Amino acid sequence: MTFHLVTIFPEFFSSILEHGVVGRAIKSGAIQVRIHNLRDWTQDRHKTVDDRPFGGGEGMLMKPEPVFEAVAAVLGERRAAARVVLMSAQGKLFDQAAARRLSECEEVLLICGRYEGVDERVAEHLADEEISVGDYVLSGGELAAALVMDAVGRLVPGVVGNADSTVWESFRRDEETGRLLLDCPQFTRPAEYRGWKVPEVLLTGNHEQIRRWRLEAAREKTARNRPDLVK
Ligand code: SAH
Repeated sequence: MTFHLVTIFPEFFSSILEHGVVGRAIKSGAIQVRIHNLRDWTQDRHKTVDDRPFGGGEGMLMKPEPVFEAVAAVLGERRAAARVVLMSAQGKLFDQAAARRLSECEEVLLICGRYEGVDERVAEHLADEEISVGDYVLSGGELAAALVMDAVGRLVPGVVGNADSTVWESFRRDEETGRLLLDCPQFTRPAEYRGWKVPEVLLTGNHEQIRRWRLEAAREKTARNRPDLVK
């Protein structure tokens, strides 16, 4: 799958693309990332991407023309397997289900806003969807896009070595209740550290008991940390 990033800060992504699971996937070719400098689609010699908001108010807004032209140049004829996403605090909240959905696209183009945001015609007439990464305001869409790319990229087949590890993790469905579950607590050696022992059952080798314990522990932790998921 290919990610396209449209940004005025192309250098922002360099270290993010080099590390860990997603970094390896880029090197192996399982994921491709193309970074596009929005200023390449400006027409004036100052390469202006922003302008003052109609109606007054603080700060500047991203102009529509360079964004529309960048997306047209990068994606060409729009195909169903390509998704255009505007990073926006006003978007729908990003979650694991959204990450799974996007991981099935062939191309995902992420538009990174800056300043006070982006002319609304981009959200209305260019983007397929607006995505927010949380109920807070960032100073730019790059960090949000990097987060989406990481969560989506690791779900692309072949990126995480063992496909099971992207099934048995936080935000899977509890098969009995149908609710979302967080991952269960996990432990490694030593079996006792500063007097804190790991749960006995994990040392027994009894797979059925361990499965049961993990499910209960995951439910308990979900109820404690995320009562909103249990409602
Ligand atoms: N005036 C806007 C905030 C603009 S912040 C508002 O109040 O909603 C500048 C840019 O940062 C946005 O265009 C968007 O691309 C990005 N951004 C800020 N918060 C974000 C969030 N929670 N999720 C995704 N992108 C965000």
